[in-house]
Amino acid sequence: MNYYSTNDKAPIATLEKAVIKGLAEDKGLYMPERIKPLPKEFFEHIEKMSFQEIAYKVAECFFGEDVDCESLKNIVYDTLKFDCPVEKVAENIYTLELFHGPTLAFKDVGARFMARLLQYFLKKGGEYIRSNGAERKNNEVNVLVATSGDTGSAVANGFLGVEGIHVYVLYPKGKVSPIQECQFTTLGKNITAIEIDGVFDDCQALVKSAFMDEELNKNMMLTSANSINVARFLPQAFYYFNAYARMKERGLAEKLVMCVPSGNFGNICSALFGKRMGLPVKRFIAANNANDIFFNYLQTGEYHPKASVQTIANAMDVGDPSNFARIYNLYKGNHKAICNDISGATYKDQEIRNIMQECYSNTGYVLDPHGACGYQALKDGLKEGEMGVFCETAHPAKFKSTVDEILSSDIEIPARLQEFMKGEKKSVEMGKDFESFKAFLLSE
Ligand SMILES: *Cc1c(COP(=O)(O)O)cnc(C)c1O
Repeated sequence: MNYYSTNDKAPIATLEKAVIKGLAEDKGLYMPERIKPLPKEFFEHIEKMSFQEIAYKVAECFFGEDVDCESLKNIVYDTLKFDCPVEKVAENIYTLELFHGPTLAFKDVGARFMARLLQYFLKKGGEYIRSNGAERKNNEVNVLVATSGDTGSAVANGFLGVEGIHVYVLYPKGKVSPIQECQFTTLGKNITAIEIDGVFDDCQALVKSAFMDEELNKNMMLTSANSINVARFLPQAFYYFNAYARMKERGLAEKLVMCVPSGNFGNICSALFGKRMGLPVKRFIAANNANDIFFNYLQTGEYHPKASVQTIANAMDVGDPSNFARIYNLYKGNHKAICNDISGATYKDQEIRNIMQECYSNTGYVLDPHGACGYQALKDGLKEGEMGVFCETAHPAKFKSTVDEILSSDIEIPARLQEFMKGEKKSVEMGKDFESFKAFLLSE
């Protein structure tokens, strides 16, 4: 399968090139040339299939032309060593807990999948690697990732110890939770954490500049592991097919509305690809915190990126969502068509606090600040006869101090998270100017 750029000014790329380059030459995002629909029979029996079986079928549609069956199956099964349950929270409202992966983040799936796919191409010595790796110092692939918390931990852990790949995690100093910070600053090995004196958008800008820098690219093979990378964002579609199956198992899959707390819009974008492949979901809701750029686009038809504002749902503090370009492209820029499939919601910090308290006292379910936006968007937006599933994108323990303060609780930190907190923090401190970052990379 070939991939084109959302800006339409870059050459068509193979999957291998799209995964290694991340961003196209014209700064656009790669899109698959075709989106293969899944046959009707697949959906008729989907409730009898496991998460892993469903995911393999979906992965075949995306990557089956470029990766042999055996390898693809291994990649999928190695990525999904856990289940992804759906639980009832309130009347007509179900939660899809996306935090059962190794770092308790939904991004674990895309991160691990991408690491294994890259490894596959490195081992195979594909054409892009042969023609671009040779003249450099070594054949190593360098993954640059900007994070406001969850991406860094998921990517660092997904790539940890994978031969031939070095990961640089850039994060805004003092703006990620202590537990998240531990998840990428204590690993060592092929993972380097870089602490930037700035906000998330500064980190993302540094990464983008690095990809555009000729000298850097001459010296090192660089790739991204943000949701701009096709191998990171597409596998997230597995979740939505599985959620549909688990709701169908309960006989509740009619008029399904899925609600996704969104920041860079990679997760919801993968769900929209799912819909295009035939997933029978009636519509989607993108739930935002106070960063309401997409919400405003839906209301006005105009997209005006702005600086992100800091909120208690910080993994969604994005002022210029990178995957907007993909959604826009998927719907050929048709505002009305986008509004037919997606509606929006936006909640300020104080509203998020109230939502978390309301849900806890009425249902006993502990929401994290991100999931809270999803839950409320369903409460506010579900119509007569519709059934709602919202993604709970983070384990509440990841935001323990915030959650405990709001709920007057003392939630338990899962053993898997506690392990990370025992390690020694190691990071490189840096300003937000590109020259220092570039000099650092070149000196490595
Ligand atoms: C990454 C993340 C999001 C936003 O996902 P996007 O794909 O960037 O829209 C929401 N909640 C949590 C907890 C996250 O880590």
